[in-house]
Amino acid sequence: MNDVIYSFVIPVFNEEKVLGELFKRFESVLGQLDGAAEVLLIDDGSSDQSYELLKQQYEKDSRFKVLKFSRNFGHQNAVTAGLDQALGHAVIIMDADLQDPPEVVFDMIRQWRAGFDVVHAVRQTRQGETWFKLATANLFYRFLEKITETKIVRNSGDFRLMDRKVVQAFCRLREQHRFMRGLSCWIGFKQGCVFYERQARFAGETKYPLKKMMRLAVNAITSFSDWPLRLSFVMGAVISFLAMVGVMGIVFLKMSTNWFVPGWASIIAVLSIFNGMTMMMLGILGIYVGRIFQEIKHRPLYILEKTHGVDG
Ligand code: UDP
Ligand code: MG
Repeated sequence: MNDVIYSFVIPVFNEEKVLGELFKRFESVLGQLDGAAEVLLIDDGSSDQSYELLKQQYEKDSRFKVLKFSRNFGHQNAVTAGLDQALGHAVIIMDADLQDPPEVVFDMIRQWRAGFDVVHAVRQTRQGETWFKLATANLFYRFLEKITETKIVRNSGDFRLMDRKVVQAFCRLREQHRFMRGLSCWIGFKQGCVFYERQARFAGETKYPLKKMMRLAVNAITSFSDWPLRLSFVMGAVISFLAMVGVMGIVFLKMSTNWFVPGWASIIAVLSIFNGMTMMMLGILGIYVGRIFQEIKHRPLYILEKTHGVDG
Protein backbone atom coordinates (compact mmCIF):
# COMPACT_ATOMS: atom_id res chain seq x y z
CA MET A 1 0.00 0.00 0.00
CA ASN A 2 2.69 2.40 1.06
CA ASP A 3 4.79 3.03 -2.01
CA VAL A 4 6.56 6.15 -0.83
CA ILE A 5 10.28 5.52 -0.94
CA TYR A 6 11.65 8.91 0.09
CA SER A 7 10.30 11.28 2.74
CA PHE A 8 11.73 14.73 3.20
CA VAL A 9 11.18 16.45 6.53
CA ILE A 10 11.52 20.22 6.45
CA PRO A 11 10.79 22.50 9.41
CA VAL A 12 9.57 25.94 8.41
CA PHE A 13 9.54 28.96 10.67
CA ASN A 14 8.88 32.33 9.04
CA GLU A 15 10.46 31.34 5.75
CA GLU A 16 8.12 33.05 3.26
CA LYS A 17 11.08 34.48 1.36
CA VAL A 18 12.66 31.12 0.62
CA LEU A 19 9.67 28.86 0.06
CA GLY A 20 9.16 29.74 -3.62
CA GLU A 21 12.74 28.80 -4.45
CA LEU A 22 12.58 25.73 -2.21
CA PHE A 23 9.55 24.37 -4.08
CA LYS A 24 11.22 25.02 -7.41
CA ARG A 25 14.41 23.21 -6.43
CA PHE A 26 12.44 20.37 -4.93
CA GLU A 27 10.21 19.84 -7.92
CA SER A 28 13.30 19.19 -10.01
CA VAL A 29 14.92 16.98 -7.36
CA LEU A 30 11.76 14.90 -6.93
CA GLY A 31 11.63 14.39 -10.70
CA GLN A 32 15.12 12.89 -10.70
CA LEU A 33 14.56 10.42 -7.85
CA ASP A 34 14.20 6.73 -8.61
CA GLY A 35 11.05 6.33 -6.53
CA ALA A 36 7.96 8.06 -5.20
CA ALA A 37 8.60 10.80 -2.66
CA GLU A 38 6.76 13.00 -0.21
CA VAL A 39 7.83 16.29 1.32
CA LEU A 40 6.61 16.94 4.86
CA LEU A 41 6.65 20.63 5.65
CA ILE A 42 6.13 21.52 9.27
CA ASP A 43 4.99 25.04 9.94
CA ASP A 44 6.40 25.74 13.38
CA GLY A 45 4.01 28.53 14.30
CA SER A 46 5.12 31.03 11.66
CA SER A 47 3.72 34.53 11.91
CA ASP A 48 4.27 35.43 8.25
CA GLN A 49 2.72 34.01 5.07
CA SER A 50 4.61 30.70 5.27
CA TYR A 51 1.54 28.59 6.07
CA GLU A 52 -0.52 30.05 3.21
CA LEU A 53 2.32 29.35 0.80
CA LEU A 54 2.66 25.78 2.06
CA LYS A 55 -1.07 25.19 1.69
CA GLN A 56 -1.05 26.54 -1.86
CA GLN A 57 1.79 24.22 -2.72
CA TYR A 58 -0.12 21.23 -1.29
CA GLU A 59 -3.17 22.13 -3.37
CA LYS A 60 -1.00 22.34 -6.46
CA ASP A 61 1.00 19.19 -5.81
CA SER A 62 -0.14 16.79 -3.10
CA ARG A 63 3.33 15.29 -2.68
CA PHE A 64 3.98 18.38 -0.55
CA LYS A 65 2.23 17.67 2.76
CA VAL A 66 1.73 20.21 5.50
CA LEU A 67 1.61 20.02 9.29
CA LYS A 68 0.76 23.20 11.13
CA PHE A 69 1.70 23.60 14.80
CA SER A 70 -0.57 25.53 17.15
CA ARG A 71 2.42 27.69 18.10
CA ASN A 72 6.21 27.73 17.85
CA PHE A 73 7.49 24.52 19.43
CA GLY A 74 11.02 24.81 18.11
CA HIS A 75 13.08 23.31 15.35
CA GLN A 76 13.80 19.98 17.06
CA ASN A 77 10.14 19.31 17.80
CA ALA A 78 9.16 20.26 14.25
CA VAL A 79 11.58 17.67 12.94
CA THR A 80 10.15 15.13 15.40
CA ALA A 81 6.63 15.75 14.09
CA GLY A 82 7.85 15.15 10.55
CA LEU A 83 9.54 11.88 11.54
CA ASP A 84 6.35 10.74 13.26
CA GLN A 85 4.42 11.12 10.01
CA ALA A 86 7.00 10.09 7.44
CA LEU A 87 6.12 7.02 5.40
CA GLY A 88 9.24 6.60 3.30
CA HIS A 89 11.82 3.83 3.41
CA ALA A 90 14.43 6.57 3.68
CA VAL A 91 13.73 9.79 5.54
CA ILE A 92 15.79 12.90 4.91
CA ILE A 93 15.81 15.84 7.29
CA MET A 94 16.85 19.24 5.98
CA ASP A 95 16.46 22.97 6.57
CA ALA A 96 14.09 25.13 4.59
CA ASP A 97 16.56 27.92 3.89
CA LEU A 98 18.50 26.01 1.19
CA GLN A 99 21.66 26.03 3.24
CA ASP A 100 21.46 22.29 2.79
CA PRO A 101 21.36 22.00 -1.01
CA PRO A 102 18.66 19.45 -2.00
CA GLU A 103 21.00 18.11 -4.68
CA VAL A 104 23.23 16.55 -2.00
CA VAL A 105 20.50 14.00 -1.31
CA PHE A 106 21.57 12.00 -4.36
CA ASP A 107 24.90 11.29 -2.65
CA MET A 108 23.10 10.42 0.56
CA ILE A 109 20.76 8.06 -1.24
CA ARG A 110 23.72 6.35 -2.88
CA GLN A 111 25.21 5.72 0.57
CA TRP A 112 21.87 4.44 1.82
CA ARG A 113 21.61 2.05 -1.13
CA ALA A 114 25.14 0.93 -0.30
CA GLY A 115 23.88 -0.23 3.07
CA PHE A 116 24.23 2.67 5.50
CA ASP A 117 21.29 3.24 7.85
CA VAL A 118 22.15 6.77 8.95
CA VAL A 119 23.90 9.13 6.56
CA HIS A 120 25.12 12.39 8.07
CA ALA A 121 25.78 15.29 5.73
CA VAL A 122 28.92 16.86 7.11
CA ARG A 123 29.65 20.44 6.15
CA GLN A 124 33.11 20.93 4.82
CA THR A 125 32.89 24.65 4.37
CA ARG A 126 30.25 27.07 5.51
CA GLN A 127 29.49 30.17 3.57
CA GLY A 128 27.82 33.29 4.84
CA GLU A 129 28.32 32.55 8.53
CA THR A 130 30.02 34.93 10.91
CA TRP A 131 33.43 33.95 12.27
CA PHE A 132 31.82 34.11 15.69
CA LYS A 133 29.32 31.38 14.81
CA LEU A 134 32.02 29.21 13.25
CA ALA A 135 34.41 29.62 16.18
CA THR A 136 31.80 28.98 18.85
CA ALA A 137 30.37 26.00 16.96
CA ASN A 138 33.83 24.48 16.63
CA LEU A 139 34.66 25.02 20.28
CA PHE A 140 31.33 23.64 21.32
CA TYR A 141 31.67 20.40 19.35
CA ARG A 142 35.13 19.83 20.79
CA PHE A 143 33.91 20.42 24.31
CA LEU A 144 30.92 18.13 23.81
CA GLU A 145 33.19 15.41 22.48
CA LYS A 146 35.23 15.58 25.68
CA ILE A 147 32.35 15.24 28.11
CA THR A 148 30.05 12.73 26.45
CA GLU A 149 30.34 9.05 25.85
CA THR A 150 28.19 9.21 22.74
CA LYS A 151 30.34 9.82 19.72
CA ILE A 152 28.70 12.80 18.05
CA VAL A 153 29.70 13.49 14.47
CA ARG A 154 31.42 16.88 14.37
CA ASN A 155 30.16 19.56 12.00
CA SER A 156 27.01 17.71 11.13
CA GLY A 157 23.90 19.79 11.46
CA ASP A 158 20.49 18.24 11.18
CA PHE A 159 20.88 17.41 7.51
CA ARG A 160 20.74 13.63 7.45
CA LEU A 161 19.15 10.55 5.97
CA MET A 162 17.72 7.81 8.14
CA ASP A 163 16.48 4.39 7.18
CA ARG A 164 12.94 3.37 8.08
CA LYS A 165 14.11 1.15 10.96
CA VAL A 166 16.16 3.98 12.43
CA VAL A 167 13.21 6.34 12.23
CA GLN A 168 11.06 3.77 14.01
CA ALA A 169 13.60 3.53 16.81
CA PHE A 170 13.87 7.30 16.87
CA CYS A 171 10.14 7.77 17.27
CA ARG A 172 10.35 5.88 20.54
CA LEU A 173 12.60 8.56 22.04
CA ARG A 174 10.17 11.07 23.48
CA GLU A 175 12.44 13.19 25.68
CA GLN A 176 11.47 16.84 25.98
CA HIS A 177 14.84 18.41 25.31
CA ARG A 178 15.91 16.93 22.07
CA PHE A 179 19.31 17.31 20.58
CA MET A 180 18.69 15.49 17.33
CA ARG A 181 22.26 15.30 16.08
CA GLY A 182 23.26 13.66 19.33
CA LEU A 183 20.32 11.26 19.38
CA SER A 184 20.91 10.19 15.80
CA CYS A 185 24.43 9.08 16.77
CA TRP A 186 23.37 7.57 20.09
CA ILE A 187 20.85 5.39 18.33
CA GLY A 188 23.51 3.25 16.65
CA PHE A 189 23.00 1.29 13.40
CA LYS A 190 25.39 1.61 10.52
CA GLN A 191 26.42 5.25 10.25
CA GLY A 192 27.95 6.93 7.24
CA CYS A 193 28.82 10.42 6.01
CA VAL A 194 28.77 12.49 2.89
CA PHE A 195 30.55 15.83 2.60
CA TYR A 196 29.14 19.01 1.18
CA GLU A 197 29.64 22.74 1.02
CA ARG A 198 27.19 24.55 3.19
CA GLN A 199 25.65 27.44 1.33
CA ALA A 200 24.68 30.81 2.65
CA ARG A 201 21.04 31.22 3.59
CA PHE A 202 18.98 31.83 0.43
CA ALA A 203 16.96 34.69 1.94
CA GLY A 204 15.66 35.90 5.25
CA GLU A 205 17.39 35.79 8.60
CA THR A 206 18.66 33.02 10.83
CA LYS A 207 16.01 31.71 13.22
CA TYR A 208 18.76 30.75 15.63
CA PRO A 209 19.84 33.93 17.38
CA LEU A 210 22.55 33.66 20.02
CA LYS A 211 20.02 33.02 22.78
CA LYS A 212 18.54 30.00 21.01
CA MET A 213 22.02 28.72 20.15
CA MET A 214 22.94 28.87 23.82
CA ARG A 215 19.79 27.01 24.74
CA LEU A 216 20.59 24.34 22.18
CA ALA A 217 24.08 24.05 23.61
CA VAL A 218 22.77 23.65 27.16
CA ASN A 219 20.29 21.04 25.90
CA ALA A 220 23.04 19.16 24.18
CA ILE A 221 25.23 19.11 27.27
CA THR A 222 22.55 18.26 29.79
CA SER A 223 20.96 15.55 27.70
CA PHE A 224 24.21 13.82 26.86
CA SER A 225 26.38 14.31 29.91
CA ASP A 226 26.26 14.52 33.69
CA TRP A 227 29.81 15.79 33.74
CA PRO A 228 28.80 19.25 35.08
CA LEU A 229 27.25 17.52 38.08
CA ARG A 230 30.38 15.53 38.76
CA LEU A 231 32.45 18.67 38.32
CA SER A 232 31.18 20.09 41.61
CA PHE A 233 32.44 17.01 43.45
CA VAL A 234 35.89 17.29 41.93
CA MET A 235 36.06 21.02 42.54
CA GLY A 236 34.86 20.59 46.10
CA ALA A 237 37.50 17.96 46.78
CA VAL A 238 40.33 20.02 45.30
CA ILE A 239 39.29 23.18 47.13
CA SER A 240 38.91 21.38 50.47
CA PHE A 241 42.41 20.01 50.10
CA LEU A 242 43.88 23.42 49.25
CA ALA A 243 41.97 25.01 52.13
CA MET A 244 43.40 22.47 54.55
CA VAL A 245 46.95 23.15 53.37
CA GLY A 246 46.27 26.90 53.60
CA VAL A 247 44.95 26.68 57.14
CA MET A 248 47.92 24.63 58.27
CA GLY A 249 50.20 27.23 56.70
CA ILE A 250 48.45 30.07 58.54
CA VAL A 251 48.60 28.25 61.87
CA PHE A 252 52.26 27.52 61.30
CA LEU A 253 53.03 31.18 60.53
CA LYS A 254 51.17 32.34 63.61
CA MET A 255 52.82 29.86 65.99
CA SER A 256 56.41 29.87 64.86
CA THR A 257 57.13 33.24 63.17
CA ASN A 258 56.40 36.93 63.67
CA TRP A 259 54.35 36.98 60.48
CA PHE A 260 50.58 36.75 60.56
CA VAL A 261 47.89 36.88 57.90
CA PRO A 262 45.79 40.06 58.28
CA GLY A 263 42.03 39.58 58.67
CA TRP A 264 39.19 41.38 56.96
CA ALA A 265 40.30 41.62 53.33
CA SER A 266 41.39 38.01 53.08
CA ILE A 267 38.18 36.75 54.69
CA ILE A 268 35.98 38.76 52.33
CA ALA A 269 37.96 37.65 49.29
CA VAL A 270 37.78 33.98 50.19
CA LEU A 271 34.10 34.20 51.15
CA SER A 272 33.05 35.86 47.90
CA ILE A 273 34.98 33.44 45.73
CA PHE A 274 33.49 30.41 47.41
CA ASN A 275 29.99 31.85 47.60
CA GLY A 276 30.16 32.49 43.88
CA MET A 277 31.26 28.95 43.23
CA THR A 278 28.61 27.47 45.47
CA MET A 279 25.91 29.47 43.72
CA MET A 280 27.20 28.37 40.34
CA MET A 281 27.11 24.73 41.35
CA LEU A 282 23.60 25.17 42.75
CA GLY A 283 22.67 26.68 39.38
CA ILE A 284 24.00 23.63 37.54
CA LEU A 285 22.05 21.41 39.89
CA GLY A 286 19.03 23.61 39.23
CA ILE A 287 19.33 23.12 35.49
CA TYR A 288 19.26 19.35 35.84
CA VAL A 289 16.41 19.43 38.35
CA GLY A 290 14.48 21.67 35.95
CA ARG A 291 15.04 19.08 33.22
CA ILE A 292 13.59 16.36 35.45
CA PHE A 293 10.63 18.59 36.29
CA GLN A 294 9.85 19.21 32.64
CA GLU A 295 10.30 15.56 31.80
CA ILE A 296 7.91 14.17 34.41
CA LYS A 297 5.06 16.37 33.23
CA HIS A 298 4.91 14.19 30.11
CA ARG A 299 3.57 16.93 27.93
CA PRO A 300 3.33 16.22 24.21
CA LEU A 301 6.27 17.51 22.22
CA TYR A 302 4.05 19.50 19.89
CA ILE A 303 0.40 20.20 19.15
CA LEU A 304 -0.96 20.05 15.61
CA GLU A 305 -3.51 22.63 14.61
CA LYS A 306 -4.08 21.57 11.01
CA THR A 307 -2.71 19.06 8.58
CA HIS A 308 -2.92 18.68 4.82
CA GLY A 309 -2.22 15.33 3.22
CA VAL A 310 -1.45 13.42 6.43
CA ASP A 311 -3.73 11.79 9.00
CA GLY A 312 -2.55 13.89 11.93
N1 UDP B 1 13.23 26.55 12.50
C1 UDP B 1 12.04 26.08 13.07
N2 UDP B 1 11.66 26.56 14.29
C2 UDP B 1 12.41 27.45 15.01
C3 UDP B 1 13.64 27.89 14.44
C4 UDP B 1 14.01 27.41 13.19
O1 UDP B 1 11.33 25.28 12.48
O2 UDP B 1 12.01 27.83 16.10
C5 UDP B 1 13.64 26.03 11.18
C6 UDP B 1 13.97 27.09 10.14
O3 UDP B 1 12.83 27.50 9.42
C7 UDP B 1 14.96 26.38 9.24
C8 UDP B 1 15.68 25.46 10.22
O4 UDP B 1 14.84 25.33 11.36
O5 UDP B 1 14.33 25.58 8.27
C9 UDP B 1 17.06 25.97 10.62
O6 UDP B 1 16.99 27.29 11.07
P1 UDP B 1 18.00 28.42 10.59
O7 UDP B 1 18.34 28.23 9.15
O8 UDP B 1 17.43 29.75 10.93
O9 UDP B 1 19.25 28.11 11.51
P2 UDP B 1 20.80 28.31 11.11
O10 UDP B 1 20.99 27.62 9.81
O11 UDP B 1 21.00 29.79 11.01
O12 UDP B 1 21.53 27.68 12.24
MG1 MG C 1 19.97 28.02 8.16
